[in-house]
Amino acid sequence: MTVEANGVAPQGDARRHVVVIGAGAVGSATAIEARRAGLRVTVVEPEAPGSPHGASYGNAGWLSSHSVVPPALPGAWRKVPGWLADPLGPLALRWRYLPRALPWLLRYLASGWTEARVQRTAEALRSLLADAPALHARLAAEAGVPQLVEQRGLLHAYRSRAEFEGDALGWRVRARVGVHWEEWPAEELHRREPDLDARYTLGIFVPEAGHCRDPGAYVAALARHAAAQGARRVVSRATGFRIEGGRLRAVHTEGGDIACDAAVVCAGAYSRPLAAAAGSPVPLDTERGYHVVIEGATVGPRTPVMVADGKLIAHWMDGGLRAAGQVEIGGLDAAPNWRRADILLRHLRSMFPALPEGDAAKVKHWLGRRPSMPDGLPCIGPSAASQDVVLAFGHGHVGLGGSARTGRWVAQLLAGVAPETSLAPFDPKRFG
Ligand SMILES: Cc1cc2nc3c(=O)[nH]c(=O)nc-3n(C[C@H](O)[C@H](O)[C@H](O)COP(=O)(O)OP(=O)(O)OC[C@H]3O[C@@H](n4cnc5c(N)ncnc54)[C@H](O)[C@@H]3O)c2cc1C
Repeated sequence: MTVEANGVAPQGDARRHVVVIGAGAVGSATAIEARRAGLRVTVVEPEAPGSPHGASYGNAGWLSSHSVVPPALPGAWRKVPGWLADPLGPLALRWRYLPRALPWLLRYLASGWTEARVQRTAEALRSLLADAPALHARLAAEAGVPQLVEQRGLLHAYRSRAEFEGDALGWRVRARVGVHWEEWPAEELHRREPDLDARYTLGIFVPEAGHCRDPGAYVAALARHAAAQGARRVVSRATGFRIEGGRLRAVHTEGGDIACDAAVVCAGAYSRPLAAAAGSPVPLDTERGYHVVIEGATVGPRTPVMVADGKLIAHWMDGGLRAAGQVEIGGLDAAPNWRRADILLRHLRSMFPALPEGDAAKVKHWLGRRPSMPDGLPCIGPSAASQDVVLAFGHGHVGLGGSARTGRWVAQLLAGVAPETSLAPFDPKRFG
């Protein structure tokens, strides 16, 4: 089988019928790439693609090729009590959920215990993300929404050099995997970001990175594009698999069975029971996050910016000025705690003090569920029960950015082509 320049076989077996479960960023990109590989594709998704139910709708829109450092770094355990005690802090825990979350949390801290472990994670994430801005620009153009992906760099703002040096390990690791950045001293930072509060005195600008101006609209466009390329859509929820002698025969859905030769589990934070049904009981949990959007705001960043003190991202979207962030450990089903979103709003106003005090009607809130593995790496690869069931979820904080490359890798697996990169770090079997 020949491999096209974009890395995906143009002539997959057109009789091979693949069911893609979930049409978030990962599922939609996968459906497009599987069609590009020549496979027959059915997408099973109960909701409207790109609508607020999915994590892909309301994220911060960063296509951050440099987001290769896992959230838990060496010594993170020392900071956790302080974060939890701070009512305006970036981390919250629903205490009732703690017994269920504890094994995941311990693994999460352990995976960032040493710099060597962080480095290994970073190398793997770099292979997933390095060309995310370019891949998304191409997908957006194909899907007819080129204006939604911009490649103008991303900014990190620090209050002092000492605060930046507190993150030295992360930037050292990024440098080792090939990330370059510019340092903007206070004067340059404020020349370029005139609305940013004066307490920020150092900018770290990453020119290679990109962003998406409206992730919900983008995912909706990708799903439409997959359909235009011939992917069939079934509005239903997948519930399991019929696997016989290690070969997949059908995907069970609430609307009946779909006979198929292969399936891809791209159900984001909801993938755990499906992975278990395919023999892979992986430790997927969710890091819940929030956003606020101020519609009609006129003050804000010139470049999408993450501030080190509040650990949130502020970014213009087509719907207004969005601040996204927060990690809340509380499971899939707990009701939203909109105070977490209010924290984002407070931080946003303190980042841009000229933002007028609010007309509450113009502020929109959203809760999203990041699909997160404890080691900071997604699961991408065949399940334990059948090589025909490919798992593709668990992208945590980088699922929008990582979706394009994931789609290509999965299409290569499905088409029987060796993926362009070793997928060993993402192997779902790594958890034993
Ligand atoms: C506050 C916040 C900020 C973020 N910022 C960024 C960022 O700047 N950059 C970045 O790259 N990432 C970011 N992320 C992470 C990113 O949003 C996620 O990693 C990504 O959206 C995951 O995509 P997905 O397709 O796996 O999941 P989802 O978008 O959640 O899609 C999963 C889909 O599966 C469907 N589904 C569920 N169960 C079933 C079933 N049984 N059968 C069929 N379908 C099913 C769902 O309806 C859904 O449509 C952020 C996340 C949050 C919460």
